Amino acid sequence: MTQQQITESLRTIVHPETGADIVSSGMVERVEAAPDKVSVTLAFPKGRDPFAASIRRQVIQQITDRDPSLAGKITVVIKEAAPKKAASAPEKRSAADRIRRVIAVASGKGGVGKSTVTANLAVALARLGYKVGVLDADIYGPSQPRMFGVEGYLPPAVKEGDEELMIPAEAYGVKVMSIGFFIAPTDALVWRGPMATNALRQMIHQTRWGELDFLLTDLPPGTGDVHLTILQELKVDGAVIVSTPQQVALADVVRGIQMFRAPKIEIPVLGIIENMAWFTPAELPENRYYLFGKGGAQALAEREGIALLGQIPIIQSVMEGAENGRPVASEDSLSGEYYREAARKTAEKTGL
Ligand code: ADP
Repeated sequence: MTQQQITESLRTIVHPETGADIVSSGMVERVEAAPDKVSVTLAFPKGRDPFAASIRRQVIQQITDRDPSLAGKITVVIKEAAPKKAASAPEKRSAADRIRRVIAVASGKGGVGKSTVTANLAVALARLGYKVGVLDADIYGPSQPRMFGVEGYLPPAVKEGDEELMIPAEAYGVKVMSIGFFIAPTDALVWRGPMATNALRQMIHQTRWGELDFLLTDLPPGTGDVHLTILQELKVDGAVIVSTPQQVALADVVRGIQMFRAPKIEIPVLGIIENMAWFTPAELPENRYYLFGKGGAQALAEREGIALLGQIPIIQSVMEGAENGRPVASEDSLSGEYYREAARKTAEKTGL
């Protein structure tokens, strides 16, 4: 199908609220058509349009109805239309802070490397020149203090106006606040819902982040009430899903994606990062062993209409870095470059 044919086919899709079709109302920002790939960018005037997910589905449906060979090859990117007034003040999340983008890092299951990816992505973004913070909300296993080598940090409180704010730790150019600063590691599992929720609320609203381009939140694995609290309180702008090749085919990854797309949540999924994508022995750097299968994350990304933001191989220095509080993304090595590449793509997806 040509770009024009695709655009024409989208004229049949009407936004339920305005009653106008998405093409004439200017919501179809870009259509790219290659023989085996189509990409459509939709710009919604409202940040979190409740109809975004259903319109996305209709776009895919319309195109595949006309050309079934494009099934699974359509990417729909959803973004917020640029505000009409120039240079509007960034929205404040708490009295003292100006945070431009909040990104949730999530996974279907524990142990896939979500925390390691969060820490390295944060360090990589900081190296690219962004101001970055990490909010470790993984109440079941807060590991950011270890990742950044700031275990035992006790956040000092400062008074600002009538607010009492906590000062985050800082390492590798990243501000870090973790639920792990307030509880002994062994206590994490016995936390009850409301207690965890209250502590999370406090961390969200009473941390003095200052000015940030990105705040990455390390969510607990899976889906649940705690996730909903965080997503609602924090006004998350986009989600990054971390998965290993084994997990990619499993239902919990898709459930993770669906959690963000659920009605009233409607958080754009920026893409997926495939962790432990392959193994390369140090003595045979050219060889890639796909121990757990190949191409799964790419296929899932296409199926779900999201980007594959990065692929991180199994690397010994990544594990050692996580254990020793020295994220590999802070080094100039090839290992660090994998994360920097993912960071560049993630930033691009958020429009920063
Ligand atoms: P999660 O947050 O999903 O539970 P972690 O980030 O704690 O997972 O990672 C689980 C384990 O896997 C840790 O020991 C970590 O060091 C290791 N790990 C994560 N990513 C990699 C990688 N790319 N290469 C080697 N080891 C990794």
